[in-house]
Amino acid sequence: MSQPFFDALLHVGRPNLGDHDLFIKKIEGVLENRWLTAGPLGAEFEQRIAEVAGTRFAVATCNATVGLQIAARACGLRPGDEIIVPAFTWVATAHAVDWIGLVPVFCDIDEETGNLDPAQVARLIGPRTKGILGVHVFGVPCDIEGLTRIADEHGIPLIFDAAHGIGSSYRGKPIGGFGSAEVFSFHATKFLNSFEGGAIVTDDEEVAERARAMRNFGIGPDREVGSGGTNGKLTEAAAAMGLVSLASVDHFLAVNQANFDAYVEGLADVPGIRVRPLPLHPEDRCNLQYVVIDIDGEVAGIDRETLAATLLAENVSSRPYFSPGCHQLTPYRERPEVHAPHPLPRAEALAQRVLALPTGTAVTPSDVASICTIIRRTTT
Ligand SMILES: *Cc1c(COP(=O)(O)O)cnc(C)c1O
Repeated sequence: MSQPFFDALLHVGRPNLGDHDLFIKKIEGVLENRWLTAGPLGAEFEQRIAEVAGTRFAVATCNATVGLQIAARACGLRPGDEIIVPAFTWVATAHAVDWIGLVPVFCDIDEETGNLDPAQVARLIGPRTKGILGVHVFGVPCDIEGLTRIADEHGIPLIFDAAHGIGSSYRGKPIGGFGSAEVFSFHATKFLNSFEGGAIVTDDEEVAERARAMRNFGIGPDREVGSGGTNGKLTEAAAAMGLVSLASVDHFLAVNQANFDAYVEGLADVPGIRVRPLPLHPEDRCNLQYVVIDIDGEVAGIDRETLAATLLAENVSSRPYFSPGCHQLTPYRERPEVHAPHPLPRAEALAQRVLALPTGTAVTPSDVASICTIIRRTTT
């Protein structure tokens, strides 16, 4: 076998790391203070997250999965309630709500944005629908106006899984401040990381207060157990990492933009291949955390699996994000009448075509140019 083009494997989702020395300094402070969880760094992290999101409140959590569960409960959803979620997303969106006894009902998407299609959401709303959970997939803002209108019409909360969304904006306003609450993820592979972590952001004081108590076993500001709850607290080590990541946010955005531009240029005019995110509304911005190629196999003359294998032989990893559709996964597939009452042709079609490629600080535009050359050679 010939030598792979790259000496070491290029990963999808290699963590973006901020300043090493700054992190060590903060960790030493944590040890000196002997305050290990939900302490001063956590409070500072929450303040900075609220600034970035442009919201009044931020409640940091141990991860976004627990954050979504707390947000849903804080917005009034109860076991047995149906909540509309997109079929095209990471499985965590559906699992988070399913695990607390809500019933995820999968909705079809707009194939251009990859996000919930408000017309399809409207079709799914029934007497048991008690909420809508939109996802800004790949950091592309949802049709927030369309979804807000439907949620308001039916008097149900609109929550956003903004796991990919920090650093993106909709009509000039940062992602974070829409709906009843939005939830960020700071998992290692996300745009900003705190090793693991998440945050619920909102302008609604009651939602924030309930979420803050539910994160800590339901203990309210008066130290009384006033509600149910869980342990969703963020450690101080994670908050330290989050603060260090936040200090580099402009750098990460610039790196992602340069890599994205290199992909767009390197794959321009390759028949059957489009680079996602597709061009956005001129007033919207995307953090470009993911670069995903959308492959029309017949036109490109190659299927996704063969292309992924060819890339891997050159030491380039790739991921079929997000395939299959959530409704096609075992726990949901078994009860289509409950979880997928309508067919989901667009989510299924998109899921079959996508392949996420390496980006972030672990790759350079010159690496990207080489990846594009490999793809061009394979498809033509
Ligand atoms: C990563 C992710 C989550 C879960 O985030 P964690 O912080 O890992 O719990 C939820 N939704 C989407 C869309 C994700 O990509």
